[in-house]
Amino acid sequence: MTLLQFQLKRDQAGNLIKVTNYRGYTVIQDPKFDMEAALANFEDGSCCIIIGDSFEKCSADIQEFILLHEIGHSECQHKSSTMGAGYSSQQVMDIYTEERLAGKHLQSEFEADEYAAIVMGREVALKALEYFHQKYQFMQRSYKNHSNTNQIEFVLNELEKRIANIKSNFEN
Ligand SMILES: [Zn+2]
Repeated sequence: MTLLQFQLKRDQAGNLIKVTNYRGYTVIQDPKFDMEAALANFEDGSCCIIIGDSFEKCSADIQEFILLHEIGHSECQHKSSTMGAGYSSQQVMDIYTEERLAGKHLQSEFEADEYAAIVMGREVALKALEYFHQKYQFMQRSYKNHSNTNQIEFVLNELEKRIANIKSNFEN
């Protein structure tokens, strides 16, 4: 079972895109986007969730966590990643990487994870974060000597802190 049912529409440039709605948020699938998902905030105050190819490979409950995490960024007013209406997925990636490396990112990640954990429960949130941790560990082993090694290590380190945050904030 897939969580989202997409419709084909044309964007302003006339390209066919896959669009749907989840809990009132517009979700756009972009096959060029090489992360699971990101929240794109536009200059006019609107926002949408962009999902990449690897999103489709996740199970339905992990997909739900990913979407709720992005909605959490919006609900918590994490408005730092603002882009113009003619966004490109590369622009989103660049802004995201920049913020991440500047260390501004982690507190926002905690809050977005907590939002998802409140909505769907601590166990599923932990399961999703552990899934990503395993995925990046696998990438680390596969891409030894690759130029992305530092970034993978950075994400792994961040995921460990995010897992610890959910564990400590949602103790029974
Ligand atoms: Zn996030």
